[in-house]
Amino acid sequence: MSGLELALVLGTIAGLADLVGGGLVAGRRRWDRTFLQYFLAIGAGFMLAVAFLRMVPESLEKGAHTYLYVLIGYFTVHLSEHTLTPHFHFGEEVHAEALIHPAVGYLGLAGLGIHTFFDGVAIASGFLVSRPLGFVLFGAVLLHKLPEGFAVGSLMLASGGSRRTALLASALLGLATIVGVLSMAAFTAVVGEALALSAGVTIYVAASDLIPEVNKERSWGVALAVFGGLLLYYVAESVLEAAGIHVH
Ligand SMILES: [Zn+2]
Ligand SMILES: [Zn+2]
Repeated sequence: MSGLELALVLGTIAGLADLVGGGLVAGRRRWDRTFLQYFLAIGAGFMLAVAFLRMVPESLEKGAHTYLYVLIGYFTVHLSEHTLTPHFHFGEEVHAEALIHPAVGYLGLAGLGIHTFFDGVAIASGFLVSRPLGFVLFGAVLLHKLPEGFAVGSLMLASGGSRRTALLASALLGLATIVGVLSMAAFTAVVGEALALSAGVTIYVAASDLIPEVNKERSWGVALAVFGGLLLYYVAESVLEAAGIHVH
């Protein structure tokens, strides 16, 4: 299996995790909110470690103007999720008063769709550089997919959408990730730049979307789980190294 084929399989799994997150909202069973907060916290730690210790260094080797692309990636998410979009944040949507118009839900979906597209770009760029990098980036994406699907599902419900709309929205997010993977087939020549862009996206999602949600939680365990994410990253790298697979 080629790197891109493997990226497509794992990108599809990551996309399905969006759907599972949306299903948690649409199914409205008694889910444990704290459980999702832990995912979010571990995801944030893991993603920051991957971005700073792997994505940026790899991109410096493979591409030009790395830090410029990191900056562009970072502000692309700020623009799409928080500037063009009137109201979006991770976690459960509880601000019905901020969502008078259903358009708020759809704009949130579009903004988040740009980010999930880059989730796919990240996985594919990783596999285009090396398999271990691809697996680590897949882990970074997968760890925040459940809260991501959950966030968009609850945003749709809170802005007046039906459960079906909520589920459909999370499916579209997953699809954007798959499209992101596929699009990298045309950009294999600029994988270093794509990696830098996705690093900027990853840093935004982790530090500016996820960490603020972690900080809202009063739980000491959730705050500590961010360090659990760093530890998980270290374990993942060690396992890959023990298996004789070096990233460099
Ligand atoms: Zn809100
Ligand atoms: Zn994502």
